[in-house]
Amino acid sequence: MIYADNAATTRTSPAARQAVLDTMDRFWGNPSSLYAFGQEAAEVLYQARADVAACLNAKPQEIIFTSGGSEADNQAINSAAAVGKRKGKNHIITTPIEHHAVLHTVEKLAKEGYEITYLPMDASGIVKVEDVAAAIRPETCLVSVMFANNEIGTIQPIAEIGALCREKKIPFHTDAVQAVGHVPIDVEAMNIDMLSLSGHKFHGPRGVGALYVRRGAPLVSFIQGGAQERGHRAGTENLPAIVGMAAAMKDACAKIAANDAYVSTLRDALIAGLSEIPHGALNGATAPRLPGNVNFCFEGIEGESLLLLLDDKGICASSGSACTSGSLDPSHVLLAIGRPHEVAHGSLRLTLGEDNTMQDVEQIIAAVKDVVTYLRGMSPVWKELEKGERNYVI
Ligand SMILES: *Cc1c(COP(=O)(O)O)cnc(C)c1O
Repeated sequence: MIYADNAATTRTSPAARQAVLDTMDRFWGNPSSLYAFGQEAAEVLYQARADVAACLNAKPQEIIFTSGGSEADNQAINSAAAVGKRKGKNHIITTPIEHHAVLHTVEKLAKEGYEITYLPMDASGIVKVEDVAAAIRPETCLVSVMFANNEIGTIQPIAEIGALCREKKIPFHTDAVQAVGHVPIDVEAMNIDMLSLSGHKFHGPRGVGALYVRRGAPLVSFIQGGAQERGHRAGTENLPAIVGMAAAMKDACAKIAANDAYVSTLRDALIAGLSEIPHGALNGATAPRLPGNVNFCFEGIEGESLLLLLDDKGICASSGSACTSGSLDPSHVLLAIGRPHEVAHGSLRLTLGEDNTMQDVEQIIAAVKDVVTYLRGMSPVWKELEKGERNYVI
């Protein structure tokens, strides 16, 4: 099997697995208990918090552990909205290419009377800082722009947006789920107020994540109960998963430069190989782009059929985000960067990681070429295109 769907989830690393098992075996006390055995667990929890914070240049007390990236996004956005409302501010700025954990949250807020501005997007898949500046109003209570896109891998000008928001005193949240452990992040230098991350996107366990919240940034608790996470997120901590995530994050952050160099070489070779297929095109700008992300559209192809045939050849790929692949709607990201419906349906996302090899890349290129030729051979749409009865879009 060739696994090329690292944006959907990643293999749990041996270090993360070992940390989970050790914590289950040795530190199964409740960190809130006062006896020494509970306090040992509390110390392990603190160390994990410190490790996660260190990777972001944050302070341990600025980290709140959550059940994952979705919960972190929900808490960040709903907090800024609730605190904003108290000050008479009800305007939120975001992008049309966010993950659904952000988009569906702002859509819910829109129904409650908040005003949402979706920043303009062009074929590059990268936001312009001038557009953020132009969208800011006196009643803006949040700017939420993802660090790196989960479908097309484009990296946003986070430091520039952070500087602008700091100057205008507007809370700035970034969904950094695809970026943490893959590109360097410094919440101080980048003026980030809130940041979401998720363990399973950098070889940690699933069902665990964190929200970084700068001191003084908006923060409301949405789960009532105990005083865990300093009263910001009730519920007995999932210590094994938290420690496993911290181990994976420490590892990933220490290896960013080396992994980036290796994985981006694979990515560029894959892009070069797939570019040989006629009437296909890379989605999103080549740079700045996540080291492992390749996303193509092929004219006259159904994304679902492409995936199934690649699966037959032992290749795990995706047609967009894992969350939408159950539906037949074309990707909101591809539509936002201007791909027409019929082309957006024929998209292929391959996300590589440090476990992949150049041999994998060669096999993927050969398999995709075969499958695209085969599917086009059966496609009535492709025949019309070839006969000139229909115009090529790409
Ligand atoms: C995976 C992902 C999420 C959701 O994280 P979960 O831990 O699976 O809830 C949010 N945002 C982005 C950009 C993602 O890639």
